[in-house]
Amino acid sequence: MQIEVVTLFPDLVRGALQFGILGRALERGLVSIGTEDPRAHTADVHRTMLAAIRAAHARLPAASPRVCLAAQGEPFDQQRARELAALPGLLLVAGRYEGMDERIIARGVDRELSIGDYVVSGGELPALIVIDAVVRLLAGALGDARSSLEESFAAGLLEWPQYTRPEVFEGLRVPAVLLSGNHADIERWRLAQAVARTWVRRPDLIVRHGLAPEASRELNEFLAGRKGAERVLEGEGHEQDRSGN
Ligand code: SAM
Repeated sequence: MQIEVVTLFPDLVRGALQFGILGRALERGLVSIGTEDPRAHTADVHRTMLAAIRAAHARLPAASPRVCLAAQGEPFDQQRARELAALPGLLLVAGRYEGMDERIIARGVDRELSIGDYVVSGGELPALIVIDAVVRLLAGALGDARSSLEESFAAGLLEWPQYTRPEVFEGLRVPAVLLSGNHADIERWRLAQAVARTWVRRPDLIVRHGLAPEASRELNEFLAGRKGAERVLEGEGHEQDRSGN
């Protein structure tokens, strides 16, 4: 995938691209990310921005969308990240100061995306958030191909609680089912936890995406109080070590 970012602060964008999964995806050539500084184009301020958008867009595969980061844009979410990750190219335009002149948007932008209902000082961090969410969905970006399928929002649910070693930490035990080696029980526990957690923390996701029949059964059981509802409602989701360790 090829991404271009039009920004007055190219170093801010480039500097953030060196780390972790993004850095590795760039190294492995899964994605290339370029920047275009409007100040490199001489003319008045509006023409400068439009010239930068056109120059960066010309480097991308045909039909790559021109996306402006804007607080008034459509909400960016996992579904939109998936749509963008399926494209060969993407142009991101970062605004600054009072935002983008409406005529630049009319001439140089196909769609506007917002990262949330708050205002930040420039479009660079929002552009980096979009880049990060998109790149981790590219084939080969995550070590384990399953991991992006199991993360929060992949199936319209929040992720289930995560546990690593040791088995007991500060008196808190890894739930016994996770140590049982019974994969069917583990899968069922995970689904039940994901459904309960989503119901408690983000019921809007369930309203928006609905539930698959199996998840719906788990929710009914949870609501009937048979699934350790109190623990999830208290936001704990773990078992106390009854041996006193
Ligand atoms: N006057 C604008 C408004 O009230 O919506 C805010 C402009 S903001 C200070 C400057 C730039 O930051 C915007 O042009 C946009 O690129 C970026 N920005 C700010 N908040 C954003 C958000 N929630 N999502 C995406 N981009 C945002």
